[in-house]
Amino acid sequence: CGIVAAVGSRNIVPLLIDGLKKLEYRGYDSTGIGYLSADGRVVAERSLERVAQLEAQINEKHIEAMVGIAHTRWATHGAPALRNAHPMVSNSQGVSLCLVHNGIIENHDEIRTELAVAGYVFTSDTDTEVMTHLIHQHCVQGLDLYEAVYQTTKRLKGLYAIAVMRADEPHHIIGARHGAPLLIGVGERGNYLASDTSALLSETRKVIYLEEGDVVEIALDSYRIRSIAGDFVERDVHVSELSA
Ligand code: GLU
Repeated sequence: CGIVAAVGSRNIVPLLIDGLKKLEYRGYDSTGIGYLSADGRVVAERSLERVAQLEAQINEKHIEAMVGIAHTRWATHGAPALRNAHPMVSNSQGVSLCLVHNGIIENHDEIRTELAVAGYVFTSDTDTEVMTHLIHQHCVQGLDLYEAVYQTTKRLKGLYAIAVMRADEPHHIIGARHGAPLLIGVGERGNYLASDTSALLSETRKVIYLEEGDVVEIALDSYRIRSIAGDFVERDVHVSELSA
């Protein structure tokens, strides 16, 4: 039940793991990270154990990445099991993306039926996978990831904070929130998304709290925020006084 995501100028995997450790207090039943491999694929590494176990798995495989998303899950739809752990991946028709989600999508059943008719095969029991494939379908229809996420949020009923990456848009991450927390961390060596400031304190104290319905893009040295009404907006940068 926490998210950390990073676009950095060096390997951000240690920062993601550190962030997940800071979010452990929220409780979780599984954890995972999604990243772009050196050969340009979206890869998900997941565990049903503690964050320390995920870290060991990652170290063993010598995983490094400059763009990545990370998650602790508190199961609401689908048992705690590896197939239900995030990131969820949607990979077909030349579009490959992965997504992490906190919250609950209420109209997942209706959207799942439509996607199944369109040929999507589900590998988990989660509401999250429905959202992942819906974004994917918009991408296949020609939208870029930012627009695909924006259009998808119009269709979703429920609560969410998400972070998504797409293999063929390797330099940024898209985030969105409605009814679940998500903020942007503005750093010297990259930009970040997190559920909670505490997850980013090792890297930055500068945060932007997102509003209901915001859809954002973070890149190495820029970020953009689109409000629920569809306009690009500025939001204040706050300097957190939390101690690390
Ligand atoms: N509803 C999603 C699931 O069950 C997300 C749960 C969460 O907030 O961690 O996978």
